[in-house]
Amino acid sequence: MVVSTIARAKTSVSSLRYQQFKILSAHGQCHHGAVDGVENDKLNMGKIRIVAVIGTRPEAIKLVPVILAARERSHLFEVKVVQTGQHRELVDQLMLEFGIKADANLNVMQPNQDLSYVLAESVRGLSQLFARENPDWVLVQGDTTTTLAGALAGFYNCGRVGHVEAGLRTGDRRSPFPEEINRALTTRLADIHFAPTELARRNLLREGISSEEILVTGNTVVDALLHTLSRIQVEAPSKSRYILVTAHRRENHGPALLEICEALIKLLTRFRDVRAILPMHPNPNVRDVLVSRLGAHDRITLTEPLGYTEFVKVLNASVLVLTDSGGVQEECAVLGKPMLVMREHTERPEALDPDVAILVGTDPAKIVEVGSRFLNDANKTSKKQALSGKFGDGSASIQILDALLRRRDLSIKPVSFQGASQLRLGSPT
Ligand code: UDP
Repeated sequence: MVVSTIARAKTSVSSLRYQQFKILSAHGQCHHGAVDGVENDKLNMGKIRIVAVIGTRPEAIKLVPVILAARERSHLFEVKVVQTGQHRELVDQLMLEFGIKADANLNVMQPNQDLSYVLAESVRGLSQLFARENPDWVLVQGDTTTTLAGALAGFYNCGRVGHVEAGLRTGDRRSPFPEEINRALTTRLADIHFAPTELARRNLLREGISSEEILVTGNTVVDALLHTLSRIQVEAPSKSRYILVTAHRRENHGPALLEICEALIKLLTRFRDVRAILPMHPNPNVRDVLVSRLGAHDRITLTEPLGYTEFVKVLNASVLVLTDSGGVQEECAVLGKPMLVMREHTERPEALDPDVAILVGTDPAKIVEVGSRFLNDANKTSKKQALSGKFGDGSASIQILDALLRRRDLSIKPVSFQGASQLRLGSPT
């Protein structure tokens, strides 16, 4: 089963690449060509200087493809990477895996850090760094406190801000908390919005963002996933079926996490041939509960967070995914993996499908009911949604760089501007 799952994924990769070629050809323009084809000398301009800001694991996974693509085009781009240190361990692991070393690390992480502390320290540190580096573009990704801090510091210092994965909305200001508001505020601060889907573009238009400032690129997670899948070795089929579980969202801390644990135990009681693997987020609010509720179960494996390649292998070979993660929802949609989204809202409704991907919340009865349906019919459903292309074709990074190149004029800053880091108390603001 694992062999066929992986073989299917490999076919997926090549057919996606083929689709990508067709799509680009049909438009009469190849994104690879558009970026690579520009002769910098002929334009007689300097390189475009980018600072990519990373705080958490999903930001790393989704900005790494852009950073690598920019570094491959070092005649056009100079890219520096700054980590705020919001989730230091998880990001370090990821960066090492992709061979990227941060140029600066603000190390904002403290025991029991709160959001206002992370935001304030990150804005302060990033402001100083941007004032020194004077980048043409600050690239932020997603919806974290780091994302908001990067956009605000970029704005204060008059760098242009590019928001990768812009325009996702649940419409509920408090869920996900604080990510919905982080992402919406970042929209106010950004100069260019890289929307992963058409729906995200429409959300931005509805909020008054000009269509000229929005580019639908697909999600860079597809770039990361396809790149990783292409390197995965086919493994021997596993004897038992297993479910992959991830749960860490703030909204699910407390009683909801207990419900998730209860649901998983009930599901495994119904399906004696099924095992579960659960890479634990380091957050103690999550970890302590998981260990105490699930640690003794003989068919549940609790692990440390997995490296991205390892995680993709496990995801690819699982028969069902239970998750509250944003990125994992997108990855399941790309792979056509049956999935239960254990949240009340999702800002990624494109990932849902009545047959394979259902928003179930954390009610144990609902999780067990839908999970049972999927486990009884896993082979059939797993094919259904694969390669829907809803989140792009793997060319998002190239399209983002291409857009920055085409907006060179925007990289030139107003000469009279006094950066925020130069403002003093009592200065007019
Ligand atoms: N992931 C990983 N190792 C793990 C668990 C998740 O590499 O042990 C990856 C996963 O593939 C996805 C991303 O982390 O791309 C999701 O991160 P997370 O769930 O922390 O954040 P969210 O996407 O919910 O913002």
